[in-house]
Order: sequence, then C-alpha cells, then structure tokens
Amino acid sequence: MSFYGNIWFERIFPQLVPVNEKLTQFRGFISALGEEFEVMLHLENGNLQLQGSWRLQQLLKPCQEAVVQSLKQSSSISVFLLELRDLLEKQLKQTKLRREILLPTPQYYSALLSHIAQCGWDRVEYVDPDLSTLHLTAKDEDGRLHILQLQLPRDYPEKPPVCSADLPEEFMFKWFPTSSLHDILEQFQTKLCFFQDFWMCMDEIDNSCWVLEPEKPGRKDYKRRLVLTTNGSVQISVNPQCHRSIPECQFLGAEKVIGPFRDNFNCNLEKWDVNNTILTNLKLVLDVEFPSPCSSSKKDYIVECGICYSFQMNDALPDKPCNNSHCSQLFHVECLIAWLRSVSTTTQSFSTLFGECPYCDMPITCKVS
Ligand code: ZN
Ligand code: ZN
Repeated sequence: MSFYGNIWFERIFPQLVPVNEKLTQFRGFISALGEEFEVMLHLENGNLQLQGSWRLQQLLKPCQEAVVQSLKQSSSISVFLLELRDLLEKQLKQTKLRREILLPTPQYYSALLSHIAQCGWDRVEYVDPDLSTLHLTAKDEDGRLHILQLQLPRDYPEKPPVCSADLPEEFMFKWFPTSSLHDILEQFQTKLCFFQDFWMCMDEIDNSCWVLEPEKPGRKDYKRRLVLTTNGSVQISVNPQCHRSIPECQFLGAEKVIGPFRDNFNCNLEKWDVNNTILTNLKLVLDVEFPSPCSSSKKDYIVECGICYSFQMNDALPDKPCNNSHCSQLFHVECLIAWLRSVSTTTQSFSTLFGECPYCDMPITCKVS
C-alpha cells in the first residue's frame, strides 16, 4: 500500500485530513451509524498503522484479527477505511442488540418503582444498583423479622420474580401479569402465619437447651442436636408441616450414656401429646431436664474428639463413641478410621474395621462408608 486513495477519498471521509505533505499521516473522524470515532492513520514503509479512541478500540476488540488482516491486505487507505467502517457498523449493531437483550425496558423501571412504592420503601432492605435484586422485609405475628429475596427478570412484571426466603419449605406464589410485589408480600405473610407455631416451638428449644447443631439455627432449619448430658445428645428432626407430632430422634453417644434415654423414648411414646410444645413433650417422654444455657456452660457438654482434640471437623461432630462403659470416649468417624488404618493389628471385614480403642484398648468397630 503506498498511495492514500483516489478522488473519492475526500468525499467519503471528509473528516479525515492529511497532517503531512507526504500524505502518509491522517487524522480525524470516521463515522459509522451516526456515531463518530477519532482515528489516526500512519503509513510507514508500506505498512499502515491505525490508532483510535478508547471507544473505537473497545468496539473493534472482538474483530481484531479482521482489522489486522485488512491493514495488511488493503490496496489503499481508502479501501481500508471502507472495510473499517463496515466492521464498525457490524459491531455497533451487535452491541445495540446485546444491550436490548440485557437491559430492561422503561416499562420495567416504571412498574417496579410504583410496585415498591405500593409496598413502602421502608420495606426495602437491599436493592442492587441494576434494580434487579431486591430484598423486602416482613414481620410475622410474633414480631420476627423475615427477608424475602427477589430476582426480577427483565420482562417483569409480565414474568414473575424468582423468590427465596429462609423458610422450611420453598416459597411458592401465584403470579399474573397484573400482579405486583405487594401481592407476593401478602402471600409471603400468609406463609409466615403458617409456620408461626413451628417457630415458637423451635425458639423455645433454642432458648432452653444447648444446641450443638446447627451452630446458628435459621428459620428454615427443622433439625436440632440437643445436649442430653455429657457425651450424650439427641438429634431431633421435626416435620414443619405437622411439627407437634413425634419428631424423628437419633441418639448420639456411647451406649451406656444414651441407652437409658432411648429406652425412655420407646416406653413413653404414648405420653406424647400434640397439645404440648415439642420441648415439653421431649422432657416428658425422655424423662430428662435438658441442661439449660441459664444454669450451665456449653463447654461442659462440648466433648472434643479423643484423637484430634477438636470439636468440629468438616462440619462433623465427634459422635462415634467407644462402647466400653468405663471409657465412652467420643471420636470423629474420620479420625477413628484414620487411626484404625494406621494400626497394623486392625482387620477389615466387608465395610467394617475391627481394632482397639486408642483410649482403653478394648475392641472397637467402625464402619467405612
Ligand atoms: Zn477428631
Ligand atoms: Zn475406649
């Protein structure tokens, strides 16, 4: 490429002017689809170089190879500029298309703002800068605060938001193209009413017992691992739909420690009365006064693993006991398996390891999953 063009050059690119007499450098603007881009062209030893504004560079990024090829192969600067304009127009059209797909319509914003106003801005706990994620608050009858998280589609309100909340079950709601956030909040409020008594029962447990798991129970959590006594706990699994009925109970600890509780549970089941709260029933059926946070320290009941000396490991608590009644030491299953495998006298039959307790040397078994 040597010559900058032909007689048409000035007509096609009137905003580009030569900056030197040799006509090897040009500076100015090139327009595409009504938008103008600053460019500088430099012809040196037959090689054409292009420099442009930041916007131009961003636009041409996806088609950089085509630009380089055109710079090399164009027979004149005019030909190159025509090709460059084609590329720019193509990129501009694609960007516009992408923006139309990604950005919501003005109707989206006007509907959303009026819907938020209808709920009350004081109900908005969080909103992201795009106005596409929204957290709304709701109080239940007992004054507990709940948060409803909404992800709004760009064709809202024609399409419903995706909702999530800290509830024991998925929050389902009815939605029509004429619905608004207020309708969702009302349905959410009804859902909260449904779980009132369930949360009252769980709160009573959380306030009166040492809860080992979960560490910080949420409103969705229907399981609790409660301290019965040192080295002994019970995991209850409550059905939130009919929470006053007998929960599933799993006793954790050495047989000597938890055996009596399990026996009580099995003998006293007919005493379970759905008019009582879960805690009252548990006390009655297990015949136990749960150690209370008011009168004891959690440390007294948190028993560390006899191998790694920690309480929690990978979310697991030490709940594999030695069943020698004089020992009753607790281990993490993972720790015990690792220990038993490291000892040469350990044998394995199917998926069970047979070895000796690292504390009392009495036989101990452990299932390998
Ligand atoms: Zn351990
Ligand atoms: Zn032992």
